[in-house]
Amino acid sequence: LAHYDVLTALPNRLLLNDRLEQAMIKAQRNHETVALLFLDLDRFKQINDTLGHSLGDQLLQVVAQRLLECVREQDTVSRQGGDEFITILPETDAAGAELVASKMLQVIAQPYLIEGHTLRISSSIGISIYPQHAHNIDTLIKHADVAMYQAKETGRNRCLMFRADMNTSTYERLTMETSLRAALERKQFQLHFQPQVSLVDGGIIGCEALIRWKHPELGMVAPADFIPLAEETGMIGPISDWVLNETLRQCRKWLEAGLPEIIVSVNLSALQFRQRNLFEQVRSMLSLHGVPSHMLMMELTESILMQGVEHTLATLHELIGLGVGLSIDDFGTGYSSLAYLKRFPIQMLKIDQTFVHDITTDPNDAAMVRTIILMAHSLNLQVMAEGVETEAEAEFLREAGCEWAQGYLFGQPMPAGAFTKLLKRRGEKKTW
Ligand code: C2E
Ligand code: MG
Ligand code: MG
Repeated sequence: LAHYDVLTALPNRLLLNDRLEQAMIKAQRNHETVALLFLDLDRFKQINDTLGHSLGDQLLQVVAQRLLECVREQDTVSRQGGDEFITILPETDAAGAELVASKMLQVIAQPYLIEGHTLRISSSIGISIYPQHAHNIDTLIKHADVAMYQAKETGRNRCLMFRADMNTSTYERLTMETSLRAALERKQFQLHFQPQVSLVDGGIIGCEALIRWKHPELGMVAPADFIPLAEETGMIGPISDWVLNETLRQCRKWLEAGLPEIIVSVNLSALQFRQRNLFEQVRSMLSLHGVPSHMLMMELTESILMQGVEHTLATLHELIGLGVGLSIDDFGTGYSSLAYLKRFPIQMLKIDQTFVHDITTDPNDAAMVRTIILMAHSLNLQVMAEGVETEAEAEFLREAGCEWAQGYLFGQPMPAGAFTKLLKRRGEKKTW
């Protein structure tokens, strides 16, 4: 039973791997090729959702029977789960594989009579060949999968042979999207905290909460690699809720440990601003965790300010009324409009790290940073420099009148435990 799929009685993933390994060993010995066919039904979910799982199951059973009709005795048709079937064809080259695949497409497309319904479904197939396309099982399957996605992308109901130049991005995007959806549930997100210090005396005045995704296979995934996808797919909503909740939970812990109050910044996504009742949410979360509103600062990007100005302005005023601080992140990389600096109720500008990196070598960047600081001060805004990595940069900024800084020189983003230790030592000595 451990080797067979209960629904279709076909070999399962385990037995497939075993047979594939045997086929590859034999092929290597005899200088033969093995073909792998990755078949996925087109729009099967629709049938399942509209007609019910029992009907969907019966359909899968008939599909399994029909696939078996297309192959020889030494071939293996397996079910991977869902509506995915992998077939191994030993001693078969590309031409032979294409022949079998087109036969499969034909038989799958024949109408099905199930519980009085006449159903039609098509399928998409990707093919990979050992040893041409891959030398190990995982890559061989992955390449057939990539080809299958490409077949779907280019119209479905077709088979495609894997090519090295095939765009793997669709495939990677899809697998990334699936695992991102599961990440919250599986508790794979973490917050790191990066210290923010006063350039006058080096003391910690706050920190920025930065999200991390601990992916089981990819390791730590940087926010730049998944926030855009989260925004595109709408998952940024629940993720942002998690970030805010987790940040405030941590603030509560620091307060309970008797540590002095600091200002904790969180990043806001443009989508949060457009779709959600941000103000209500922030207000209720602050009171839920019993955190004073002046401990929270929200970092906005210039693009947030440029979209739907009236609505944005109203929300910003609500947040300010609550006592939450507002800053502009990555200043200098967007529109950098003077008009909105005057118009929006903001307390702080964060100068983007790209300017900071070159202040000691590039006179233009140095001039730009000096100007931003002067301008900010004349508008009664405070200034924080981002990405400060060297003592020379800190010295330049201090001299130019910048009051706050954040960067590797003072501390990298770190887990809550490490930051708590830093906070406890805060009274003892300067942080750098
Ligand atoms: P950001 O808000 O501008 O955050 C600062 C980024 O600069 C962080 O990257 C930080 O690790 C990095 N950094 C800090 N000091 C230095 C330094 O001295 N040198 C260099 N080279 N880099 C430094 P990270 O953590 O990879 O975050 C990247 C961006 O992802 C953030 O940029 C922010 O826009 C976004 N992000 C992070 N967490 C969240 C979140 O919870 N929600 C949303 N919506 N966006 C987030
Ligand atoms: Mg930020
Ligand atoms: Mg920034």
